[in-house]
Amino acid sequence: MKWKESVKGLKAYQPGKSIDAVKREFGLDEIVKLASNENPLGCSPKVTAYLQESAHNFALYPDGYGTDMRNAVANHLNVNPNQLIFGNGSDELISIVTRALLQPGVNTVMATPTFSQYKLNAVIEGAEVREVPLKNRLHDLDAMYDAIDAHTAVVWICSPNNPTGGIVEDAPLQAFLAKVPSDVLVVLDEAYFEYVTSANLHDSISLLNQYKNILILRTFSKAYGLAAFRVGYGIAHPDLIAKFDPVRGPFNNTVLSQAIVPVAVADQAYLEQCREVNEAGKKQYITFCEANQLDYCPTETNFILFEVKMDSDEVFQKLMEKGYIIRSGNALGVPQYIRVTIGTKEQNEGLLAQLQTILQQQGVVV
Ligand SMILES: *Cc1c(COP(=O)(O)O)cnc(C)c1O
Repeated sequence: MKWKESVKGLKAYQPGKSIDAVKREFGLDEIVKLASNENPLGCSPKVTAYLQESAHNFALYPDGYGTDMRNAVANHLNVNPNQLIFGNGSDELISIVTRALLQPGVNTVMATPTFSQYKLNAVIEGAEVREVPLKNRLHDLDAMYDAIDAHTAVVWICSPNNPTGGIVEDAPLQAFLAKVPSDVLVVLDEAYFEYVTSANLHDSISLLNQYKNILILRTFSKAYGLAAFRVGYGIAHPDLIAKFDPVRGPFNNTVLSQAIVPVAVADQAYLEQCREVNEAGKKQYITFCEANQLDYCPTETNFILFEVKMDSDEVFQKLMEKGYIIRSGNALGVPQYIRVTIGTKEQNEGLLAQLQTILQQQGVVV
């Protein structure tokens, strides 16, 4: 085969052990998965009820324009339907952006550590990846600006950033956008937007009136609790959307996925409830870290990255033996830290009790 040079050394995404495999291997009845930042409360009960009652014709292709879902999201965000593009998860939008703009000879600027898919997709397209280390755990927009040159096509800003959890505040973002050349696309990945409680969050949608080179990415996979349905969307100027649309597969969201979006969007009260539970869970982790003098990253998301002062792969393994799946910082470029999805009160208590024991056994905490 005549493989692209860029694809030759790549390894497939390692999804980790399945819940069933962990149950069998360690003889456990129950597994708590706090590794992928799904909503521990699940989705709105209205979506569940809808799915039980609805009848669809599964022989037909979905609406390629996703009209109902598009109108529901457009109304909710107060944007024009032609300002939206939908993907099979925002993951697909990342690859659409990359496919449309990146190639050998151009470069792309992103933070490190940040969401790994920006880099992976850029590498596949053969573009140069310019990674700019976070500064005080936040995007270093000055250094990112300095990394831009005439060959830069895309800048990725993940706000809140995965795996650290902090947002890019309004003032630095505005100053950055004012300087960036208008032919450079700035992607604002806001996968955790619905969990943010900080008052300093930029109203990114209002920026679209001023800048035609921004694409905002959001998803139904995190706070909405609908990761299984794979729906993410991009918001931008209609000209930008029109350019990306031909790169998108024609029927990239299923009939059921399209159908549940209006139901989910209509239940904003559910999201408010999820935010409250998340805030309470966040406090459990912060209290634990402070009591045990472990460093943590202040977070605006439903996950928290914190220090374990020992090999994080070892913590990952020991927690898995007790039925808790988390992410080791080693895999995220932050050794000696772990990233934990904030679960329900009981899940957080259970995990922290096990972690306390592990850290005591290692002499990390007393
Ligand atoms: C989870 C996540 C995504 C991808 O979500 P989809 O399920 O593909 O919509 C994108 N960006 C960040 C930062 C994420 O954490």
